[in-house]
Amino acid sequence: MPTELLFREDAYLRFARACVTAVGERGIELDATIFYPLGGGQPGDSGALIRANGERIVIADTRKGATMDSVLHVPAASMPVPEIGETLDLEVDWSRRYALMRLHTALHVMSCVVVAPVTGGNIVPDKARLDFDIDMSLLDAAKIESGTNELISRGVETETVWITDAELDARPELVKTMSVQPPRGAGRVRLLRIPGIDLQPCGGTHVRNIAEIGGVRVLRIRNEGRRNRRVEIALAS
Ligand SMILES: [Zn+2]
Repeated sequence: MPTELLFREDAYLRFARACVTAVGERGIELDATIFYPLGGGQPGDSGALIRANGERIVIADTRKGATMDSVLHVPAASMPVPEIGETLDLEVDWSRRYALMRLHTALHVMSCVVVAPVTGGNIVPDKARLDFDIDMSLLDAAKIESGTNELISRGVETETVWITDAELDARPELVKTMSVQPPRGAGRVRLLRIPGIDLQPCGGTHVRNIAEIGGVRVLRIRNEGRRNRRVEIALAS
């Protein structure tokens, strides 16, 4: 059963109320959620589902379900099991999610400083990386750091735009990430636009204004293979 993905319209929702639609071995499904499921290099959210009696069902992870737009809230070990139809208060682990949003948006900005095909990427709460198909000699940590921070300091508002599958097919240059093709089949694809900086398909959660990133530090640049030159960053503060 599809879940209404509230984080898509507003990534800043920390609390919501929803009804249980299914409970299975892999997790709890709700009619709506603020929990982002693992995807596109961004980890699934953690947090809690709170029952009317105050009991907390700690959620350790969030994954995509078997069908499009279904979301599985994965409880930590030995948590109480809710009933189908039960109303729960949702609470996302906000400090973790906000760090992921800032780092995620920072990767969009950095992908415009390092101009090369992206072959991989990953985000964890304290650091993030992109892999590029580029010659090592072209990667200079100081330049990447200052270039990214200069763009961040422009303080541009981010925008979500939707285009049809056909429009995306006609503009293949929008897809920088060779390893992750945007999901097709829903008829439309979600893009993140950072005006004057970046435009690419992305279903993740982003900050409203890139100034919220603050700034980044390049932690290291490593050779992970012929087509994977890895640039790892952290938030400056
Ligand atoms: Zn994104």
